[in-house]
Amino acid sequence: PKFVYAFAEANKDMKDLLGGKGANLGEMTRLGLPVPPGFTITTEACLAYLATGREPDGLAEEVSEQLAKLEQAMGKRLGDTEDPLLVSVRSGAKHSMPGMMETVLNVGLNDESVHGLAVQAGDERFAYDSYRRLIQMFGKTVLGVDGEHFEDVLEAAKQSKGVTSDLDLDAKDLRELVQVYKDIVVEHAGQPFPQDPREQMELATRAVFDSWNTPRAVIYRRQERIPSNLGTAVNIVAMVFGNLGMDSGTGVAFTRDPASGAQGIYGDYLQNAQGEDVVAGIRNTVPLRELERIDKRSYNELLHIMQTLEEHYRDLCDIEFTIERGKLWMLQTRVGKRTAAAAFRIATQLVDQGLIDMTEAMSRVNGAQLAQLMFPRFDEKAERHKIAQGMNASPGAAVGKVVFDSYTAVKWSRSGEQVILVRRETNPDDLNGMIAAAGILTSRGGKTSHAAVVARGMGKTCVCGAETLDVDTKQRVLHAPHGIEVHEGDVISVDGGTGEVFLGEVPVVDSPIVRYFEGELDPADEEADDLVKAVDRIMRHADGVRRMAIRTNADTPEDAARARRFGAQGIGLCRTEHMFLGERRALVEQLILADTDQARERQLAELLPLQRADFIQLLREMDGLPVTIRLLDPPLHEFLPDITELSVRVAVAEARGEQREGDLRLLQAVHRLHEQNPMLGLRGVRLGVVIPGLFQMQARAILEAAAEHTKTGGVPRVEIMVPLVANVQEFETVKQDIIQVAREVRAAESVHLEFLIGTMIELPRAALTADQIAEAAEFFSFGTNDLTQTTWGFSRDDVEAAFFSAYLEKGIFGVSPFESLDREGVGELVRIAVGKGRSQRPGLKLGVCGEHGGDADSVHFFNAVGLDYVSCSPFRVPVARLEAGRATS
Ligand code: PEP
Ligand code: MG
Repeated sequence: PKFVYAFAEANKDMKDLLGGKGANLGEMTRLGLPVPPGFTITTEACLAYLATGREPDGLAEEVSEQLAKLEQAMGKRLGDTEDPLLVSVRSGAKHSMPGMMETVLNVGLNDESVHGLAVQAGDERFAYDSYRRLIQMFGKTVLGVDGEHFEDVLEAAKQSKGVTSDLDLDAKDLRELVQVYKDIVVEHAGQPFPQDPREQMELATRAVFDSWNTPRAVIYRRQERIPSNLGTAVNIVAMVFGNLGMDSGTGVAFTRDPASGAQGIYGDYLQNAQGEDVVAGIRNTVPLRELERIDKRSYNELLHIMQTLEEHYRDLCDIEFTIERGKLWMLQTRVGKRTAAAAFRIATQLVDQGLIDMTEAMSRVNGAQLAQLMFPRFDEKAERHKIAQGMNASPGAAVGKVVFDSYTAVKWSRSGEQVILVRRETNPDDLNGMIAAAGILTSRGGKTSHAAVVARGMGKTCVCGAETLDVDTKQRVLHAPHGIEVHEGDVISVDGGTGEVFLGEVPVVDSPIVRYFEGELDPADEEADDLVKAVDRIMRHADGVRRMAIRTNADTPEDAARARRFGAQGIGLCRTEHMFLGERRALVEQLILADTDQARERQLAELLPLQRADFIQLLREMDGLPVTIRLLDPPLHEFLPDITELSVRVAVAEARGEQREGDLRLLQAVHRLHEQNPMLGLRGVRLGVVIPGLFQMQARAILEAAAEHTKTGGVPRVEIMVPLVANVQEFETVKQDIIQVAREVRAAESVHLEFLIGTMIELPRAALTADQIAEAAEFFSFGTNDLTQTTWGFSRDDVEAAFFSAYLEKGIFGVSPFESLDREGVGELVRIAVGKGRSQRPGLKLGVCGEHGGDADSVHFFNAVGLDYVSCSPFRVPVARLEAGRATS
């Protein structure tokens, strides 16, 4: 294969092979934008290297060929002592992984060529500054020298000179620093800094390849669900310099505000600096708008390019650029990350601008973003003690205890604390802490600093650049103006939407999007927030195009009502066991303890009217819509007191010489019902087979409720569902009982009663014999919780604690199969059951009511295999509506 592509040979659709950066550099080159010449080494070369530990055959030759062309284009040669070509070696994977992988700048400098650079640039200080940066970056990323060694001596050099900015170090200082840096390399790497430029380039390329597998990159990929087998490309680009004086600089720009979506000039600029200074937030940047004053020509050109890019990509783009002595160069562009609110706003703005259609707009947002917008936010009416104002880097309302390091953040959050990670600035080593924290606060760096970019990517609340705060990580204290001190463990509240920081806990309120779904905000109202309007437009579109219906899992009238307001088209699962709890527990206990048919029937008769009343309410709330009611599922011991507690109670009573007949009988029952594996035991349909009258009572309550609802003018659409069926005879037994009950109810109530009897498919055997089951069952609902549990043989109640973290860490799966459907295994069973079921009973109604019904990726799968509906918790209903719409395009 071809391992190396010149930028002119590349385009934006080659991300798999050339990574995002390489593909977009190619695209910009083809658009005629000012991109420094260069070439890209493919991800395939990276994968070959990672697999074998050596560069694939032919790579070196291809690099030489492209390098020769690059030298020709630039009229300079790598390592030339008179006029050296310098290059940057930059990572660039398919998916952007900000700050996760390596980059080495100024490759090509050595003890000789540094003189040539000094002469050519007419600036000795610049040449030595570039050289010391190369040794520092190369030493750290390629040779594995701890970066602090370099930073410490740089700091010491500034201190001994009595200056604070590295701009105040002169050529002589920097020349000395280069010597010290070289000594550091020898001391800590056990080898000298390589003087051969080609060797520098090759080693830097290897380091970029290797950086694909650094722990922080692995963690980031897992968090972002990026596959681990993609590898990174490497871009070798002719250097342009932002550190050639005050007429040079480097910056980042967005074509729109990535936080709000508003159009305008957004970005940061830093004079006389190289790119890594901006991203690391080391010196404070100025807003991009200031560039107009600093260098109007470059500013205007940049605006023009931004417009070109936005129209070309038909989306928000972010850009890295450098100005070298008044000449603008584009170093990178990509379709930019954005907040959830911005995603909705931008998508509809682009529709209004005629750049995309509504289907495309819908594909530009997703359920995770919608879910984020439904989070609560701080109550503006509450009393709030504001201690700082930073930049609104990533929205959300986070409350938690202050911690100053990643380790503590992880430790405290593991023990159930909400924490806010407070740092001067973050770097990739803080990643674990950022994941663990509820929110992130930094005192330095702009909206494009590491903290901001990573937090936005994770959907985590972040305020950055709160400059009036002084973060003292050693003393573990945060100093705010007016002598306020916040110590580790103190609570603060951070508003990522406004950039405000408050002392103590601020109460939170519903988001406007939830109020919109609740019907409290009218998007047609002119005053309505444009975000509400944008969400409304996209939701309408999704509802118009989706094939699947969305139902909800609800057991109470309140949940049912809310879900209906949120757009649910029925109930996909009412778990009747919830109706056996609370005050009714005593009745249920008596039922379990009943030792004669008579006693049992008496208890059932007492439960009947209670259940019936529950169902009437539910049917009212869902009038005219299908309501799936599941017969009792959990093992009976769940309704009895805990065995240990009860034993103690009995023992204490005995010691006191008291006789507690009731407790004693209860204890015997608990022992009798005890199972080693209750999840595989007497539950679901098995209860119905074993306990006479139980399912009949429930069926009677349901059907009498339906009759009652009909009589009061309602339209009940009842679906009775039998859980945990493995075999058609089990189902048949229960079905015949229900039919008998229906006959009796019809006769007694003399109303027309229509209903369906169906089953859950939540055991592998049920899926595999779905054709037989479909002979008897009028609908299927996939219980993917139990189906996952029984397919993998994982106990759904225990795995998270027991070993999932190890599985996730080792990449055995990227996400828990209880969270997102395992398509290959569990999904295959669903597919088989769909095929077999419909082959027996064409038009068989199919749905899903496991947790996966509200998971975006799973929704797409269920759409693809042809389910009629998904059912999920009320709050996930809007997410499922959106994803079901997106799944159709
Ligand atoms: C399931 O197993 O997926 C299901 C919906 O039932 P439950 O979670 O109640 O076992
Ligand atoms: Mg189940």
